[in-house]
Amino acid sequence: MLAEVTGSGEAPEGGPKFTLELNQDQKDIKEWVHGFAEGVVRPAAEEWDEREETPWPVIQEAAKIGLYGFEALGQFWADDTGLTLPIANEELFWGDAGIGMAIMGTSLAVAAIFGQGTPEQMGEWIPQCFGDADDVKLGAFCASEPDAGSDVSAIRTTAKYDEATDEWVINGQKAWATNGGIANVHVVIASVDRELGSRGHAAFVIPPGTKGCEQGAKVKKHGLRASHTADVHLDDCRIPGSCLLGGKERLDERLARVREGKKAKSQAAMQTFEASRPTVGAQALGIARAAYEFALEYAKERRQFGKAIVENQAIAFALADMKLEIDAARLLVWRAAWMGRSGQRFENAEGSMSKLKAGEVAVWATERAIQILGGNGYTREFPVERMHRDAKIYTIFEGTSEIQRLVIARSISGVHVK
Ligand SMILES: Cc1cc2nc3c(=O)[nH]c(=O)nc-3n(C[C@H](O)[C@H](O)[C@H](O)COP(=O)(O)OP(=O)(O)OC[C@H]3O[C@@H](n4cnc5c(N)ncnc54)[C@H](O)[C@@H]3O)c2cc1C
Repeated sequence: MLAEVTGSGEAPEGGPKFTLELNQDQKDIKEWVHGFAEGVVRPAAEEWDEREETPWPVIQEAAKIGLYGFEALGQFWADDTGLTLPIANEELFWGDAGIGMAIMGTSLAVAAIFGQGTPEQMGEWIPQCFGDADDVKLGAFCASEPDAGSDVSAIRTTAKYDEATDEWVINGQKAWATNGGIANVHVVIASVDRELGSRGHAAFVIPPGTKGCEQGAKVKKHGLRASHTADVHLDDCRIPGSCLLGGKERLDERLARVREGKKAKSQAAMQTFEASRPTVGAQALGIARAAYEFALEYAKERRQFGKAIVENQAIAFALADMKLEIDAARLLVWRAAWMGRSGQRFENAEGSMSKLKAGEVAVWATERAIQILGGNGYTREFPVERMHRDAKIYTIFEGTSEIQRLVIARSISGVHVK
């Protein structure tokens, strides 16, 4: 870990404030999550990847030890440096990314409720996203649609307010939803005014058992196969008026501002993505580090031409570059996490930078790991091919690499680069 290579110490009394040394709480949480990842997640990784099913027993284990649930997220979030959340994610995804996503997928819905809900809505819906250790539940965040992936403004799902009953009526089809259809609580982004594009979007909670909210086709995937991904159909879904996150008054005010040509304070889907990007980057880092560590050990053991393959510069330099890139990506992730938590403005799209770099490093490092393992790397007998399959999603979801570059380019130039 970075802290290990940056020196031993606490800042001396009256000395510089800046430090990358983890504090005791952060170290304890890192060790705790690592222990679960090593002892429970890793041994189960191959099985659930092959089964392509949600690993309910592992999620239950995580709930039992308090790693899956509102309290854990609250504990991670409580760290005002912002580092605990990425640290916990890195450790969990070091164990396995498919299972990691099965455990952490709920947090996207939770982040939307947390970011946009009123305190009452948080209190009501967040616990229902998790359930409890005896009866675990999941949450799903549904923004993407068949014709609205990178282009979130193209969302066609509509939300119409029925004043007579104080209900919202939601209609549309969501695509690619992690936990879609099997979640207890779905958070859905829908358009209340299509003419306003993404500025006319709002986020809604679809309560458990709502009529008209059904799972569509389950997606068979390249990687992250222990995590459930599916379409969600919303047909005349009637939900109470109170399920609009943030409430109607706030929405009406926002829409009025937009219609007057003023800047909207928030865009529902984009807000959720921005807050979660460093965390997603940390997940990619976990995969990259797992592949790097595996490849390093393998290179020390594997002998060809009478010596360990790590004695060849070609192999040793590849490992050196892997370590270098992973540590560099972690610095970007930690910076963005710290900025987000301490309310700094992302002047140069630092959140996007962190996710872009970590995602690309993960794809590259896992591919290098396969190369270092040679033929073994290409087989399912060894975990690096799974890590490579899992890593690839990190250049696609939560904004593709191209979209991250677009966001960064626009931020640094002030030009609406297309
Ligand atoms: C496993 C998995 C889980 C997911 N989980 C969720 C979830 O829980 N909730 C949710 O809402 N969504 C989820 N998604 C959807 C995901 O966010 C989208 O797949 C992603 O945003 C990309 O959209 P798309 O697939 O439609 O690709 P497209 O938008 O069609 O993009 C295709 C290609 O074109 C490029 N491209 C598009 N526009 C531009 C441009 N302007 N400039 C340059 N290049 C461009 C893209 O970068 C990409 O390379 C998930 C997807 C997967 C695969």
